[in-house]
Amino acid sequence: MNRTDGTPPTPPPAPQHKRLARTAAPATGLKPERVMIGIPVSPGVAIGPVFGASEPAAEITRFKIHAADIAAEGARLEAAITQSRRQLGKLRGRLTVLPEESQAEIAPLIEAYIRMLGPSRLIRGVKKRIEDSLMSAESAVVAEADAIAATIVSHAEQGQTAEDRAGSRRQAEEVREIGRRLVRNLTHAPFRSFAGLPSGAVLFSESLRPADAALLDPAKLAGVVTEEGGADGHTAVMLRALGVPAVLGVAGAGHAIKPGDTVVIDGTAGMVIVNPTAETLAASRKMVTAFARERQRYARLRRLPAETEDGEAIQLQANLELPVELPLIAQSGAVGIGLLRTEFLFMNRETVPEEDVQAESYRTIVEAMNGDPVTIRVLDWGGEKEIEALSAAGIVPDIADTNPALGLRGIRLLLRQPELFETQLAAILRAAAFGPVRVMLPMVTNVAEVRAAREIYERVARRLRRRGDRLPERLPPLGIMIETPGAALSADALALEADFFAIGTNDLTAYTLAVDRGESEVADLYDPLHPAVLRLIQFATEAALRMRRPVSVCGEMGGNPAIVPLLMGMGLRSFSMNAAAVPRVKQVVRGVEIDACVRFARRVMEQADPATIREMIAAFAKENA
Ligand code: PEP
Ligand code: MG
Repeated sequence: MNRTDGTPPTPPPAPQHKRLARTAAPATGLKPERVMIGIPVSPGVAIGPVFGASEPAAEITRFKIHAADIAAEGARLEAAITQSRRQLGKLRGRLTVLPEESQAEIAPLIEAYIRMLGPSRLIRGVKKRIEDSLMSAESAVVAEADAIAATIVSHAEQGQTAEDRAGSRRQAEEVREIGRRLVRNLTHAPFRSFAGLPSGAVLFSESLRPADAALLDPAKLAGVVTEEGGADGHTAVMLRALGVPAVLGVAGAGHAIKPGDTVVIDGTAGMVIVNPTAETLAASRKMVTAFARERQRYARLRRLPAETEDGEAIQLQANLELPVELPLIAQSGAVGIGLLRTEFLFMNRETVPEEDVQAESYRTIVEAMNGDPVTIRVLDWGGEKEIEALSAAGIVPDIADTNPALGLRGIRLLLRQPELFETQLAAILRAAAFGPVRVMLPMVTNVAEVRAAREIYERVARRLRRRGDRLPERLPPLGIMIETPGAALSADALALEADFFAIGTNDLTAYTLAVDRGESEVADLYDPLHPAVLRLIQFATEAALRMRRPVSVCGEMGGNPAIVPLLMGMGLRSFSMNAAAVPRVKQVVRGVEIDACVRFARRVMEQADPATIREMIAAFAKENA
């Protein structure tokens, strides 16, 4: 799915190195400077000597066993499982030395690994391969982990959102990772050690496991470079959580970077400079200082109110797609979750999750938010969001046979599948006993859908009360996404039925301009600053304000610091965004006056050309920077 919204990009947190591959005269006169490009996974600039931490591959030499050895092979596997659990238990113990936020990020992953060593699909599959196919324990582990990971990835590649695909890749990586640990223990291959890592060094290795990342001491380590790995993996998530600048997936780094070399790594631009010249070093040192200042400013911002210069309070919330993002939300300074996309619960599983499973998951999130509100959107199946468990259960048609964006999507599907809808509503209502919750309906186009949904919602609540479940005295508000032109243009009528609105500018842009969000051929036409989109946002916002209904923006536009003042000028006071955007948006909010935003919005709304609008937005951002 294409999440680029065609708007001015979010400004980088610090000045960036220019992304130019080059070689130049060396500082020392010995080795030439070399610039390499990789994937920026954790922002910041670091300078230091390279510490190489390679790990010999675990070699498998025994593939088959005799039938008489099945029991002995099973015992070897059990011993490796016990040893792996012990290692992970030790790792978990070591987390206490990390900053609290990093611990919160890393601990769930270690727990997931430990769970996988229990009676999991992986371990069951490995045992079966040993018994039925007479495979050695190590080859059974590799085969089973690969098979499970391949299934996860192939399901995921069938058309979910980019975020979902990233989540699935992470899940596949978890399975492979625990497989590798078992193989290492089965073959007695040594694990990498960081014992000799000098303070201030940049770690280089071909690849880095998430568990390795958990062993790193962010206070000692300047940065990380690897030859393999990507932006979505757990290793990347962990390095971000540790706040260590990192560039992964630097092709050819193994040849170009030698232990002891001085390197500059720019985790924001995805650049590694080996043997920098004196000039590069001086510029990079300035960037290190600028970045540290920027970070301090954002950390201070977290505690400051999101309030304009003239004292108008603005609500900044986070969108949540996967529970692993919870610690990032806590760090961001967001006050609550403005959009909890619940699709993650339905993905990468063979069956639809039961009420108890869903209730537990929502409850965890609600409790983690410590009294801040959580807006839970019910399942938004359809469009580019395909879910295997629903196809397997025959609940949805084959997405390939329909025009998914215009078909049975969001609330339309839920109203056709009341059991699915009721189960989810029941789970959300149960979680609402643990903190403030709002329920949100996706892809609404008419009032009848809201009325029908409310009837079901109230019926579910009555049933739960009869059953003796603990529910909040007043039912959580039931609101809707405004993400179709139909909904935007009937916002006045919808405001009579819905308790709140959240404007989903991603789909609203796509449906208004008839541009598929994931279609690269027409990506240049996907423009949220098109006057038609802006007018729909304005119309819906004004209708909500007239009817005194809370209204927010939760599409990508709401997290773009350059665009938020325009939306504030239209009357919006609530935005929900990717957690990383919260400090940048807050900084902009604190630097503008509402009156200036209103005057600016008036001028913008007179324009017909998106290019002019874009220029005006850039100029306004510059004036108020
Ligand atoms: C939107 O359409 O703007 C939105 C927030 O929903 P999603 O991106 O999940 O479709
Ligand atoms: Mg949407």
